[in-house]
Amino acid sequence: MTSPGARTQLAAVIGDPVRHSLSPRLHNAAYGALHMDWVYVAFEVAPGSVPAAVAGARVLGLRGLSVTTPHKQAALTAADHASPLAQRLGAANTLVFDKGEVFAESTDGDGLVADLRAAGYEPSGKVAAVIGAGGAARSAIVALGAAGASRVLVVNRSIDHAVRAAELAGPVGRAAPAEAVADAAVILQATPVGLGGRGEGNELLAEVAAHLGAGQLVYDFVYHPPVTSFLAAAANSGAAVRNGLGMLVHQAALQFELFCGEPAPLAVMWAAVAAEAEGA
Ligand code: NDP
Repeated sequence: MTSPGARTQLAAVIGDPVRHSLSPRLHNAAYGALHMDWVYVAFEVAPGSVPAAVAGARVLGLRGLSVTTPHKQAALTAADHASPLAQRLGAANTLVFDKGEVFAESTDGDGLVADLRAAGYEPSGKVAAVIGAGGAARSAIVALGAAGASRVLVVNRSIDHAVRAAELAGPVGRAAPAEAVADAAVILQATPVGLGGRGEGNELLAEVAAHLGAGQLVYDFVYHPPVTSFLAAAANSGAAVRNGLGMLVHQAALQFELFCGEPAPLAVMWAAVAAEAEGA
């Protein structure tokens, strides 16, 4: 890419914290491969400052914002328009700026399903179990329901959260106890447990892990570290395992397409973060 100039288009990620984010690496690799005069940066935005950040981005002519924790709900509120999916989730990880208007979308769930399919796992007609009922889990629950899963089981520490989240899958969704994962073809760990090596010995995940075995795919949304203790336990029990790096890549590819209006160079984006997959 040439140096940024007066015509350079800008996109960014907002979050708090955000300095660990792989999104600049993913998007800038795509711009470079396609010789686009675009730059993608990271902005740390304090809680409460999302409306000001979005207003600033609008005035400065940014083309897109990726939104990470804890701003996904505030991002939805700050947008002028929201997709039916973002409205249903009550959160957005993507803001697209077009002719002065801001459109909210959520690409996490579709990114997950795209990664499952890329890895050869088709959720249609299968039983899926999602551990967790937070924002990431809810995106997955909607996407798995839409992808035709025959059942979407939601296993969560707080049952009331599980019941509400399961409704997002439609009639195939239901809250379930940990042992129900034995019936699932795909088990998705969508809590922050394991992130950065935290949460060793978590009770819920230990209970889930006791019911895993061969013939199942166990997927951890966490990709840092590449193999969490939960994934290691799943692998020990004979299950196939995969971390959330592919979900990150695919949701970023969907964002790239929304921001730039052209197909994302997926292989280039994968290569940009390949080092993070070591050990996965
Ligand atoms: P949230 O903080 O919203 O997750 C909350 C959920 O996790 C709730 O269901 C909560 O249970 C459960 N939970 C939290 N702590 C524990 C615990 N100690 N034991 C059991 N359950 C617990 O996080 P997000 O949904 O935003 O993200 C979840 C994970 O997914 C994060 O690690 C995030 O980095 C990752 N992620 C990865 C992506 C990717 O592209 N790979 C994309 C988005 C997220 P309760 O309801 O009982 O409070």
